Amino acid sequence: MRVLLASTNRHKLEELAAALAPSGIELVDPRSLGALPSVDEDAPDFAGNARKKALSAARASALWALADDSGLEVEALGGAPGVRSARFAGPGATDAANNRLLLERLVGVPPQRRGARFVCALCLARPDGTIVAEAQGSARGRILEAPRGAAGFGYDPLLLFDEPGQPGCGSTYAELTQEQKNQVSHRGRAIARLVEALRERRARE
Ligand code: IMP
Repeated sequence: MRVLLASTNRHKLEELAAALAPSGIELVDPRSLGALPSVDEDAPDFAGNARKKALSAARASALWALADDSGLEVEALGGAPGVRSARFAGPGATDAANNRLLLERLVGVPPQRRGARFVCALCLARPDGTIVAEAQGSARGRILEAPRGAAGFGYDPLLLFDEPGQPGCGSTYAELTQEQKNQVSHRGRAIARLVEALRERRARE
């Protein structure tokens, strides 16, 4: 089964493609089809933005499309940057600028008040405008005072994954391999739920 990814973020593509491969789903890179229509990511939550992106890409390409809307919610910032994670430091901001701003906003906040979570919402849509499946995953941790690790992307070097008993607890995702990150990440968890929802759907049909 071939599914178009409604995102040009190559990190998302790599992580999602690796997590989906065992279920026989091949993710198509939208860059191989030309540009996707741009979408206003103005929904109040991740699920709403994922839905908008999946429906728009599916209609434009005539393929099933998978969208990922994700980000970081920091308790001491009232859930910010949230749906604005990609553009926290301004439109088109780099990961480095977003990370710098996050550390600035948390200056003087003690470790016990630096709780945060990554959230990922996925939506799989058909060209006729129907939603095939939706799923969400999250992963808890706390924001460090300085980056750790060089792998991954986005805020990976700043969130210390902190779920006791889970593999990778005590590391940032930037210190894990992609396979290790996918095992415990918000995105890996959302994909596992999406695949399960698709399996249940097929069993019913
Ligand atoms: P979106 O493309 O609007 O969904 O925004 C995603 C943004 O959230 C990224 O640019 C990152 O800043 C952040 N983000 C999402 N997933 C991750 C992750 O797995 N690690 C680190 N940052 C992430």
